[in-house]
Amino acid sequence: KPGTERPPLLDDEEGILLYSASRSSSSGYNHVSIEKQRQRLPVFRYRTSILYLVETHATTIIVGETGSGKTTQIPQYLKEAGWADGGRVIACTQPRRLAVQAVASRVAEEMGVKLGEEVGYTIRFEDLTNRDLTRIKFLTDGVLLREMMEDPLLTKYSVIMVDEAHERSISTDILLGLLKKIQRRRPELRLIISSATIEAKSMAAFFHNSKKRRGLEGEERGPKTEPAILSVEGRGFNVQVFYAEEPVPDYIQAIVSTVMSIHDQEPMGDILVFLTGQDDIDAAVQLLTEEAQNNGKPSSGLVVLPLYSGLSRADQDLVFSPTSRGKRKVVISTNIAETSLTLEGVVYVVDSGFSKQRFYNPISDIENLVVAPISKASARQRAGRAGRVRPGKCYRLYTEEHFVKEMSAEGIPEMQRSNLVSCVIQLKALGIDNILGFDWPASPSPEAMIRALEVLYSLRVLDDDAKLTSPTGFQIAEIPLDPMISKMILASNQLGCSEEIITVAAVLSIQSIWISARGQQKQLDEAKLRFAAAEGDHVTFLNVYKGFLQSGKSSKWCNKNFVNYHAMRKVIEIREQLRRIALRIGLVLKSCESDMQAVRKAVTAGFFANACRLEAFSHSGMYKTLRSSQEVYIHPSSVLFRVNPKWVIYHSIVSTDRQYMRNVISLDPSWLLEAAPHFYQHQQANSIPH
Ligand code: ADP
Ligand code: MG
Repeated sequence: KPGTERPPLLDDEEGILLYSASRSSSSGYNHVSIEKQRQRLPVFRYRTSILYLVETHATTIIVGETGSGKTTQIPQYLKEAGWADGGRVIACTQPRRLAVQAVASRVAEEMGVKLGEEVGYTIRFEDLTNRDLTRIKFLTDGVLLREMMEDPLLTKYSVIMVDEAHERSISTDILLGLLKKIQRRRPELRLIISSATIEAKSMAAFFHNSKKRRGLEGEERGPKTEPAILSVEGRGFNVQVFYAEEPVPDYIQAIVSTVMSIHDQEPMGDILVFLTGQDDIDAAVQLLTEEAQNNGKPSSGLVVLPLYSGLSRADQDLVFSPTSRGKRKVVISTNIAETSLTLEGVVYVVDSGFSKQRFYNPISDIENLVVAPISKASARQRAGRAGRVRPGKCYRLYTEEHFVKEMSAEGIPEMQRSNLVSCVIQLKALGIDNILGFDWPASPSPEAMIRALEVLYSLRVLDDDAKLTSPTGFQIAEIPLDPMISKMILASNQLGCSEEIITVAAVLSIQSIWISARGQQKQLDEAKLRFAAAEGDHVTFLNVYKGFLQSGKSSKWCNKNFVNYHAMRKVIEIREQLRRIALRIGLVLKSCESDMQAVRKAVTAGFFANACRLEAFSHSGMYKTLRSSQEVYIHPSSVLFRVNPKWVIYHSIVSTDRQYMRNVISLDPSWLLEAAPHFYQHQQANSIPH
């Protein structure tokens, strides 16, 4: 059932022109045509206004459609106008790591410079900048927050562009609150808040420090404190939207058949599919690739590619490289392609209607990663991706009724659906003591705040006055990981197993070390058994890591064992960084050899709040969390699935039909009282055997 999302704007011709221009230029290294291409972007017409507003206003809010050139162009305009002179740096933050890498390399290419020199980027565990040379720096908002710990006023930056602000990631929100404070101390600092869709007025109201500075305006030479708002008119083309007639029972299947029918019936143009997470995406890529081959037309020219964070550089490059003649690219993506990244040549969008979202329940103290329906705003953004180069089509795998009645207008800021432990510790480390009174763009719930304080107190990160403890609290704040993991690392120091625990921490900070194997589940399970440890997944990771090292870090060995080679390289890299951090904060690196009890005790020291007990009368493998008696089950991917030890600790929860514990280790309950006496003494005294 077609419906029109937006009125037709410009004529096709220009779209096709732009389309072919950008295609030919990005294949070769042609500076002239890159320059032309830059000038064709919608923001180019606003170059002078943007520079004028930034000059005269402390804060400028820029709203413009995805692909209009905000991220790649504005930092370059600023540099051209001299904002990076005198050793100053222009920062541009993104909520997503992959976007940071992609836009930084694009900007380096446009400027004809080597990435890591004049243009660089920093994401957690990866710093590609040069202290002396880098003038434009892309980074995640989380990394910028970390930089504040060393340089609270962010003095090296002349302009900070907080990009993708509409995503309202937890780090973006904290950052906005802190930047507002910094502005009062550094009137010369300029902020740009940019995004595809944003409540510009409420953002402006947030940044209007009316009380403090009113009356000074005009008398002082400084910039106006009232934020400027600029809206970049895009050149989106008409997108025709089609809905599913009936609710779709299996969206992966529906994606396969929709893509195949577009490929059979529609003129050339690439297809962008929005799915949820890595697992689903890998499954869809595999099915589609098979389907395209079975279709009897192996040369029919469908090139199917995944797009999610954690993808190797080579795979990223494939996604962004232009489609060769006669081929049709299908990119299956998480919502990273919704606004953070622009793919050239997309004409068709297939929208599953879902994304992976974090949800936190302060009552149960469980944070879930859930596949949940997207908002209307997201659905519109997704559809818009089809109309960038010429009129396009969007196929929604849900009914129109669902869109109208079930989908919320906007998403909820992450701040209001997350566990706040990391957030609180970061603010504390920055000396913000009154966290409840902090000036948030969106206030977190007091319950969530109290839960976080409770956990930090039992981790001995905070003392009775809710101040960071010394040294534990400060050390934990220093490690760029979830405080529970950091605590585990600190505990391993005393238990003599820091080498092992650092490996565990590295593995836990990536998605999965296994090759996802839809259709080969049995082989994967068998491969896992070769490494499986009775103690649980964490110890199993140590076995895999050992095997990988013994193989001489061989990719062959990985393939044979269903281990993801790229992931293991990443583990080695992260591990190296963590070792360095550990040494810096004064830990001693030591191996416990085969004493796995030490490893389990260290895990308990960090994750005691995630302890669960098997229900005695349950044969279904049901556990209850000690903290709030929630029903949880061991995830089938765990080596302890069906083993069901009486006491376990989980690393995270994923929800589908049930709440599943991912990455589980068994423990002796007496360790809980040892690790966190205050936490377990009172409520659970009866349930834990002493
Ligand atoms: P915005 O931030 O407004 O969404 P961007 O600055 O990211 O827009 O992108 C502007 C344009 O630059 C895109 O429309 C595209 O033409 C081009 N572009 C951006 N990134 C890449 C890339 N990695 N490869 C090729 N072209 C790109
Ligand atoms: Mg952008």
